[in-house]
Amino acid sequence: MADTKTADAEALGEREADETSPQAVEEAKREAAAAGAPPPGQRAEISNLDIVRHYFDIAADRLELPDDLRTVFWEPYREVTVQIPVKLSDGKIHVFSGYRIQHNGARGPYKGGIRFHPEVDVDEVRALASLMTWKTAVAGVPYGGAKGGVNCPADKLEQSELQKIARSFLDKIEKVLGPTRDIPAPDVNTNAQVMAWMMDEYGKLHGHTPAIVTGKPIALEGSYGREAATGRGCVYMFREAAPHLGMTPADTTFAVQGFGNVGSWAARIMQQLGCTMVAVSDAHGAIRNDEGIDANALQEFISAGGLITDFDGAEKIDPDDLIAVPCDVFIPAALGGMIHEHNAGRMQCRVIIEGANSPTTPVADEILSEKGVYMIPDVMANAGGVVCSYFEWVQNLQHFRWDEREVNDKLGNIMRRAYREVSGRAKQDNLPLRQAAYLVGIERVVEAARTRGYV
Ligand code: NAD
Repeated sequence: MADTKTADAEALGEREADETSPQAVEEAKREAAAAGAPPPGQRAEISNLDIVRHYFDIAADRLELPDDLRTVFWEPYREVTVQIPVKLSDGKIHVFSGYRIQHNGARGPYKGGIRFHPEVDVDEVRALASLMTWKTAVAGVPYGGAKGGVNCPADKLEQSELQKIARSFLDKIEKVLGPTRDIPAPDVNTNAQVMAWMMDEYGKLHGHTPAIVTGKPIALEGSYGREAATGRGCVYMFREAAPHLGMTPADTTFAVQGFGNVGSWAARIMQQLGCTMVAVSDAHGAIRNDEGIDANALQEFISAGGLITDFDGAEKIDPDDLIAVPCDVFIPAALGGMIHEHNAGRMQCRVIIEGANSPTTPVADEILSEKGVYMIPDVMANAGGVVCSYFEWVQNLQHFRWDEREVNDKLGNIMRRAYREVSGRAKQDNLPLRQAAYLVGIERVVEAARTRGYV
């Protein structure tokens, strides 16, 4: 991989750690721009699909998977694309595209979130669906992988407009869904409220069916602990890795990119553990304070309508520079491709815990590995959400409810098991965690498909 590094990666990536003065950083940005790189903070040119394919291919090579099986396990099983015409408050009909892609169901019903974002397209949904197949296998929960999305500008829409889109999308894909077929969940810009609308819409056709979606509100048979589960799972990963890395929470600083569901919960729980948040961003900007930013206070401030950059007690920084803030743990929890060849070299953390899906491009991954950064990859790090979705589904099928402690304990057990199995495999085969996780995931899916007689 090293030969795929571009001049800009070398310009930025191989700088000494002390070359982080504002002048040096500006110079690095100018050099990268001169070499044709996008401005450092922008997402990489490489697509999420290319990122997942890259890691799938490495694992498939190592497993010596023949070409025919490679096609079976790479290509999605079913892809549904629908038109969603919705009259918005401007009085006009806007036509959005919706996708539900079921990648592989060898290990159980399809499972995966639904994303509302203007950049959603079929390739992104394919990538995320495939990632779900490997993630559910790594976590050892009995699901296949799927994903959905609608290319709507969710953050600019009113609640009533979002509701229309959610209901219309559900109506159009309900034939391929079902509690034993495919069970959606929240993802970027969708939340418990969106899941409630979808459950209600499905119920109009099939009767009350809480197990049709997970991530629902507590009042509608949602599970205690589900909202925090992905962030909590990231923290469980830190708890597992820290002793081996000689880290203790009291001495650990962290930065979060994307203070949304995953990022804000990861931040609050890291803080509960005794770690200190020194920088954080969302779509509106970024802030930094080396003395610490209170994650609970920030969450309250943002929930009350405040802008992250107006938060007291922290200095506003250029969002592109968040990535270069010195810290022990960096948690990307926004979108894919945010850590790329043009900014990876500026990172000054010891550990990355990928809360987001595909936040790191393969070249960035290589740069970070050369810098000795310990990478806990998305395919295991952010599995807490789907694990807790599994708990919600199990509770719904029984119309029974566990308390939060029971949910969190069970989540801890599964995340710990996943970390130990993957890190054991990494040690055994002398591989980074990401490659080991893909090996474990793909092997389990292939075994299930073979045992069923599907291949
Ligand atoms: P969310 O919509 O709640 O939060 C996303 C956050 O990212 C928001 O705060 C947004 O302002 C911020 N953001 C957007 N663009 C940004 C940018 N350019 N720079 C900095 N911040 C930016 O979504 P979420 O559910 O927290 O999902 C975040 C990531 O985690 C996604 O990649 C998602 O696929 C992944 N993920 C989510 C779950 C889950 O349970 N929600 C599970 C697994 C993985």
